[in-house]
Amino acid sequence: MPRRAVLRAAAGLAVAVAAPAVVRNAWGQLRFDANPFSLGVASGYPAADGVVLWTRLAPDPLNGGGMPPEKVPVEWQIATDARMEKVVQRGVAIADPGWAHSVHIEVSGLDPGRWYWYRFRAGAEVSTVGRTRTAPAMGAPLDRLRFAYASCQQYEHGYYTAYRHMAEEDIDLVVHLGDYIYEVTWGRNLVRSHNAPECATLADYRNRYALYKGDADLQSAHAAFPWLSIWDDHEVDNDYASDRSEQRDDPAAFLARRAAGYQAFYEHMPLPHRMAPDGPVMRIYDRAAFGNLASFNLLDDRQYRSHQVCPREGRGGANFVEHCPERTDPHLSLLGWQQERWLTDGLARSSARWNLIAQQTLMAQIDRRPGPGAVHWTDNWDGYPAARARLLDFIAERRIANPVVIGGDVHAFWVTDLKTDFDNAKAPAVATEFVGTSITSQAPAQERFEAMLPENPHIRFVNSAHRGYVRMTLTPERCTADLRTVSTVRKPDAKIRTLASFVVEDGKAGAVPA
Ligand code: FE
Ligand code: CA
Repeated sequence: MPRRAVLRAAAGLAVAVAAPAVVRNAWGQLRFDANPFSLGVASGYPAADGVVLWTRLAPDPLNGGGMPPEKVPVEWQIATDARMEKVVQRGVAIADPGWAHSVHIEVSGLDPGRWYWYRFRAGAEVSTVGRTRTAPAMGAPLDRLRFAYASCQQYEHGYYTAYRHMAEEDIDLVVHLGDYIYEVTWGRNLVRSHNAPECATLADYRNRYALYKGDADLQSAHAAFPWLSIWDDHEVDNDYASDRSEQRDDPAAFLARRAAGYQAFYEHMPLPHRMAPDGPVMRIYDRAAFGNLASFNLLDDRQYRSHQVCPREGRGGANFVEHCPERTDPHLSLLGWQQERWLTDGLARSSARWNLIAQQTLMAQIDRRPGPGAVHWTDNWDGYPAARARLLDFIAERRIANPVVIGGDVHAFWVTDLKTDFDNAKAPAVATEFVGTSITSQAPAQERFEAMLPENPHIRFVNSAHRGYVRMTLTPERCTADLRTVSTVRKPDAKIRTLASFVVEDGKAGAVPA
C-alpha cells in the first residue's frame, strides 16, 4: 500500500489562491467566466414527502472552486415534468464560502412515490436538470423497489463507464457504500491522474472531490436518481479506525485531518442538514424506509470502531493475523456501542418485508489460509468477530424479517451465507450477504479467492475479475441481485452485462443462482 503524504496542514504551508472566476457587473450582479455548475447536480435521502437537492458553485473546480469569499444566492426549482414547465416549488438558498459554496436544500411537501425534476440558477447561469424520486408513503404497500449500489471508484484506475450504464437502468435509487474518493494514489498502470499528492487539508479534499465529481458519467448517475451515501476509509485515510490513522499519526492531528475529510464529504454529497459535521464528528448512520417493502439501515463502520487488533509494528490499520487472541475480545466493536444499539433497536421495531443492512465491508468469516490454520483480515468484520456474533445472534433470536447485508470495500463480488456459527458447515444461514465489486478500483487476483473456497463453504460466489455494481430488485416474494459488470475500465466505451444473478426467497436466508 502507498505511503502517506506529509500532513501539509500541520507543516503550515500556505495554499495558493486562484484568480477569481467570478466578477460583478456595474449593477452588482454576479457574472461567471466559467460554468459554476461544473460539478453537476444531485439529490438524496428521499422521504415520502421530500428529498435533499444538492449543488456546489465551482467555476474553477480544481483550484478551490474559484468563488469569491462571500455568500451567494442560488435559486432552485422542482417540477413534475422534465421540461421544468410545471414547477411545484421554488426557493433561494445561500451558498456559503464556509461550506465551499455548496447548497443542501431540504424540499418538503412533495407527493410520495413519484418522479420530480429540479435545477438551479446562480446569476445568469442555469444548471442542468436533475431527476429525483420521493419514497412511497410510510408503510404503504409497495410491489417493487429497484436500486443499484456501488463502491470504490479510484479515479486513476479507470473510467466511470459503469455509472453511464447505471444512469440508464430502470431503478428508483442509488446506494453508495463508500470510497467515493481516494485520498491517495496507488495501483498499477494508471489510466488517469489525481495530479495532486495525498489529501491532508480541507482544500486538498475539496479539490479531490471536484476532480472526481467533474466526471460526466458520475454526474449522469447523480442526475438520474436520488442517492443514499455512506463513506468508508478512503474519504479520509486508508484503514483508519476512529482517531487512529494508518501511520499512527498523533491522534489530535489525525482528528483535524478527519474533520477536513468529513467536511468535504458533507459539502459534496446530497445529505440532509442534520448530518452536517461538527469538527471531526459527523453522524451519517441513518435509516430510510420504502413503503412496507424495505428498510435500509445505513451504517458507519469507521468513525466509532475499536482500533484494529494486532497491527504491524508501529502502524495502525489492517493486518493478516493468525495468532492474535485479542481478536476475539468481546469489548471490540466495529460500529461503536451506541450505533450497535441503534441498529438492533431499529431492526427489532421494523415491520418491513426486507431489512437491508447497508455497510462498508465484507461481513462473513473468511479463513484466508488454504489448508491447516486460519488467517483473518482485521479491517473487516473478521477483525471484530464478537461484534459480528452479537449482531447475527440478535437477528437469529429475534427472527428479523429477511435480513440482507450489502457491502463494498473489497473490490470483488461476494455472495455469502451469514451464520451464527461459521465453523459448522451444517449451521443454517440467518442472513444473506451480497458484497458488490468496485466501480474502478483494482482487486487481488481471482485465483487467490478461489483457493479459499474449500475452507469457507458459506461462500456461494466470489469474483474479483470484474468492475461494476449490483442491481437489486425487491418484491414481496423475493430479492434478486444482478451482478452488473463493464467489459473494461481502461477505455471509456465499455459495454455492460450481467455476470450472474442470485435470488433470495421471502423467509429463506441464503442466495441461490437465479
Ligand atoms: Fe476501496
Ligand atoms: Ca485454513
